[in-house]
Amino acid sequence: MRILPALPEETLFSRCVRTRDVNGMTAEHFFRSFLNNIAHSLHPSLTTSLNILTESTAETGHELWLNQTLVPLYAWALPEYRAELEDLTISAARLHTLCKLCRFTEHYTAVLKHCPVCVHADIRKYGVAYWHRQHQISGVTSCHHHQVNLNHIADPRLSSLHLHFPYNREKMISLSGHDDFEFAKFTASALSLICQSAPGFVSYDDSPLIAGFLHRLSAKNAPTLFEKINHLASRSGNTCKALFPVRTNMVSQWKALLYNPSPQPPARTLLLLYCLHQLKLS
Ligand SMILES: [Zn+2]
Repeated sequence: MRILPALPEETLFSRCVRTRDVNGMTAEHFFRSFLNNIAHSLHPSLTTSLNILTESTAETGHELWLNQTLVPLYAWALPEYRAELEDLTISAARLHTLCKLCRFTEHYTAVLKHCPVCVHADIRKYGVAYWHRQHQISGVTSCHHHQVNLNHIADPRLSSLHLHFPYNREKMISLSGHDDFEFAKFTASALSLICQSAPGFVSYDDSPLIAGFLHRLSAKNAPTLFEKINHLASRSGNTCKALFPVRTNMVSQWKALLYNPSPQPPARTLLLLYCLHQLKLS
């Protein structure tokens, strides 16, 4: 038995859910058949056990890692942990520790996001709706194809693969803010460049935008520049709210991204890059 082939932008998790559904398998049966009972849960975007799952797919384990999970985004944001993050045998517990997903445990919710317009388009084109990788990036609240807000599904338990498909859930369609949409498009392009290891996108610290900003900060009035960043970021209202739920001192938040050696969520760095991109610093 094989895992169903990937549809465009599809996460590995989504392929597993479809495979289970099409074959009418219980979650236990799926984990026994495809994961030798080693894993009992799969993260929606930081999927592990790729060394085992690759035996049931046409792709190599590295291709699954690169094209169907969000781990490359973390490898970009945490270059000091890249080798460990690229290890296909990494345990879920270690991966979640590295990615600072302390809240991702059995009894907490994992959020899956979907675009209601993509759901209709995917069903029309492929006969099935599925989860897109780009939608799962934290802080992304709008679809990068359609300017609509993403709907959320929060699952109380992660021990099994769920049969629900996005179209069975919320069907609300609402227009998203212009800047939230622009940020979603920016992150989708950035993810693609990161996955290609394009120049300036191998790791966040080799970004010319960040280097240019640091240079300006040393030469210009730093508070003014941070104010500009704040202004640009706050225009992406929903994104900002999702990434910085506590916004007491945004300057210190931006400084932590630039100077603090402790790891930061990649989506916050993407928001900073998005603002710098708009500032057009040369
Ligand atoms: Zn969409």
